[in-house]
Order: sequence, then structure tokens, then C-alpha cells
Amino acid sequence: MTAQLIDGIALSKHLRAEVAARAAVLAERATPPGLAVVLVGEDPASAVYVRNKVRACAEAGVRSVFEEYDADLTEASLLARIDALNADPAIHGILVQLPLPKQVRADKVLESVAPAKDVDGFHESNLGALLAGRPRMVPCTPAGVMRLLDHAGVTIAGAHAVVIGRSNIVGKPLSLLLLQRDATVTICHSKTPNLAEVCRMADILVAAVGRPGLVTRDFVKPGAAVVDVGINRVTDASVASRLYPAGHKRLALFQSKGSILVGDVHPEVEHVAGALTPVPGGVGPLTITMLMANTLKAARERVAG
Ligand code: NAP
Repeated sequence: MTAQLIDGIALSKHLRAEVAARAAVLAERATPPGLAVVLVGEDPASAVYVRNKVRACAEAGVRSVFEEYDADLTEASLLARIDALNADPAIHGILVQLPLPKQVRADKVLESVAPAKDVDGFHESNLGALLAGRPRMVPCTPAGVMRLLDHAGVTIAGAHAVVIGRSNIVGKPLSLLLLQRDATVTICHSKTPNLAEVCRMADILVAAVGRPGLVTRDFVKPGAAVVDVGINRVTDASVASRLYPAGHKRLALFQSKGSILVGDVHPEVEHVAGALTPVPGGVGPLTITMLMANTLKAARERVAG
């Protein structure tokens, strides 16, 4: 069996065109959706993520304001900046790129974003609304995973979904979304015994861990839908050759570049799963697309009053 690859790039393109059309209508009637992207410090991965988000805004008709601060910015200064963005009527969404430097408490900063502008869906009131079954701003990666499953025609109601990972930004909110759609949900984490055995019960298996190739074929029930949320940069040749056989084009890419992005799912799973999201090109593009969609939603709600 070779799994159906769920193409996140094509789905994103389609959804971004939809956002762009709605953003254009809103811009004509009232105001273009506006997103503030705040980056503190020089983390290279964050700089890439932020650049991609700003580029996606341009494509989706979302006006973006990019604010970049030195790594020694104080918490008080950042909170003051967020207060100003909260009060700015042209800004409908605020994204603070994580991680933040050590002197700044991330939880304090995330709680300072006005819930209506919390397009990342990380504010406790938005997470609480999701828990209560009345989602408002849904975190982007979990929302994107649901879109991918629907796009691939995966039946969610009645399915057994196993989610590996219990973070507040991926594992927990995704588990709630699956539950809301009538899946039976099992959440696994680093203390789960017999992980492979638990995962093998899944009709839908989601890996949101951050461990290259953790999910091997013995984790997967034949025909299951497997969603790989992990994004891991591999720089170790022994890890790359554990994932790809000699002569594989991804291994050749690693050898020419010295690093490669991989997921949490071992490529051999392609031979067992019924459907699979690739890395790159699966969940990643959807995360940014859902950020655009959340910004549009925030802007429309503001205009509607
Ligand atoms: P996180 O906060 O570090 O959470 C990782 C989770 O995995 C934790 O719940 C941890 O368990 C669990 N875990 C760690 N090792 C494990 C093991 N050996 N067996 C079972 N569970 C284990 O990470 P995150 O922010 O949720 O992100 C997870 C991955 O998704 C990362 O690779 C990240 O880069 C990627 N990501 C991708 C996107 C995207 O757009 N595609 C967006 C966000 C994140 P404990 O709770 O017990 O520690």
C-alpha cells in the first residue's frame, strides 16, 4: 500500500485565494484586514517563520505591520507595545512570535493580547472557549490539521484519533477539535507507556512531538490517516540515513545542503498508512493560511461590531 499524500500546498493555495477574495470585499467596504507581527531577538528559525507569514499576508490581501525588537527588550516595553496595538483600530490581529527571550514571560505577553485580536488563539479565554465547545479564535496549526483531514475526506466522527503531544499550541487544542467532531480521542505524551501499541489503535494518528522519525511503521494501523505536525531540522548524518535509504532524493538533498527538514513520522509509514501529510508541504502551509483566515475573521467581526 502507498498512502495518499495530503497536499497542504495545494489546499493552502485554494484557501488563501478565498481569504484574498473576502479581504478585498472587506477592504472596499470598510478596511483591509491588518495583522501586526512582533519579533523579539534574532532566533534564525523565528526570522524565517516571520518572513513567511509577512509574505503570506501580501498574497492574501492582509495588510501586515512587522515590528522587530532587539533581544534585550524588556517585558514592560513589549507589554506597552502590545497595549498600543490592542488600541490600534487598523490592527485586527496580533502575532507575537515565540520563543521570546528569557527576561520576557511568554504567558504574561500572550495574556496581554486582546482576545479579539489573538489570531494565534493562545489567550486563555480563547483556549477556554474551545474547551467549552464554543470556539472563537482557534489555534492555527490544529485548525489547519482539521482542514487537511476534511480535504482528504477522512471520516472523523466515530473514528479513534490518537494525538501524540499535549502542548497548548498543538496537541491539546487539536484533541478538543477532534472531540468536538465526535472522534474518540486518546492523548499521548512522553510518559505514555507502550506508545506504539496505543498508536496502532488509531484510525487517525497525529504526531506533534518534535522527534525526527519517532512514528515508525509499527505505530500505524494499515490504512490509518497519519498527520505529521513535526518540523525538525536534521543536521546529523546518522539521523538522516536512519530516515532515508541510500540513493533517496531527500538523503541526497541532506548531503548537498548539510541539513534537511523532516517530520515526526518516519518516511517508511508511507507504505502502511492510507493517507499521510508530507513534511515539508503538509501541515506547515496550513498553519500560515489559518493565521490569514483568523485575521480576516477578526477584521470582519470588528467591522460587524
Ligand atoms: P512541545 O511543546 O515541545 O510538545 C511536545 C509534546 O511531545 C509534549 O507533550 C511531549 O510530552 C511530547 N513528547 C516528547 N517526546 C515524546 C516521546 N518520546 N514520546 C511521546 N511524546 C513525546 O512541541 P509543540 O510546540 O507542540 O510542537 C511539536 C512539533 O510540532 C515540533 O516539531 C514543532 O516544531 C512542530 N510544529 C509544527 C507546526 C507546523 O505548522 N507544522 C506548528 C507548531 C509546531 P510531555 O508533555 O510529557 O513533555
